Amino acid sequence: MNKFVGAHVSASGGVYNAPINAKKIGAKAFALFTKNQRQWKAKPLDEETIAKFKVNLEKAEILPKHVLPHDSYLINLGHPEEEKRQKSLDAFIDEVQRCEQLGLDRLNFHPGSHLKKISEETCLERIAESMNKTLQATKDVILVIENTAGQGSNLGYKFEHLAYLIDNSIDKSRVGVCIDTCHMFTAGYDIRTREAYDKTWSIFDEIIGFEYLRGMHINDSKPELGSRVDRHDSLGKGKIGLDAFRFIMNDPRMDDIPLILETIDESIWAEEIKLLYSFIS
Ligand SMILES: [Zn+2]
Ligand SMILES: [Zn+2]
Repeated sequence: MNKFVGAHVSASGGVYNAPINAKKIGAKAFALFTKNQRQWKAKPLDEETIAKFKVNLEKAEILPKHVLPHDSYLINLGHPEEEKRQKSLDAFIDEVQRCEQLGLDRLNFHPGSHLKKISEETCLERIAESMNKTLQATKDVILVIENTAGQGSNLGYKFEHLAYLIDNSIDKSRVGVCIDTCHMFTAGYDIRTREAYDKTWSIFDEIIGFEYLRGMHINDSKPELGSRVDRHDSLGKGKIGLDAFRFIMNDPRMDDIPLILETIDESIWAEEIKLLYSFIS
């Protein structure tokens, strides 16, 4: 068994509660926010918090590489206004450092938004520059770029956007991607049938490459294929359907990376995790 499934669990009360919350639902992986995701400032992690997190991670029998921290929603590394981009960059570097302190090796982030004030190209250049400044300012965390649905002015809805950011990185060993199935689908990449699934992932491999796949978000989608709307659904309840998730669970290219549920009903996460494991044939 080489699949590591979990969910984006709560870290309220302290980051050390996240592994416990993951264990409770039978998760072998998890995502978390290492600070309040809706605030710019957070107090630094203290020694005791860090130690407790590491102990609880071990108790939950989850490896650091199967934890996929998610950055704050406020951060926009491609912000058209320099002052706000700098604020985002400072906050992003802080998030990377928090991951380092917790002994985690990757950080998942949304590339950024042009806010209709600059072109997609200029915005991507700024994101690449912000990523490179982060790589220079930190030691060893992998920056994991998430694909997006392309809602509003969010970039990252085309595999080419992610490839551009990788290509322009000063250290390719420290960049990766997280593919969200809902975002992929609403951005226009079909995975519902065997044929569509194989085609989409061969395009992915050609443009990005599986060696960069460092995690996935496992979500069904309320909106239709290509709608560019970001609304998750529980597995099998949305427009993607269960087959795609069955393909993923039996696809060795998704071995040994965190597979994270961000589905809308957390009361059934334990069941969804069981369901996904039951798909392995
Ligand atoms: Zn996601
Ligand atoms: Zn989403």
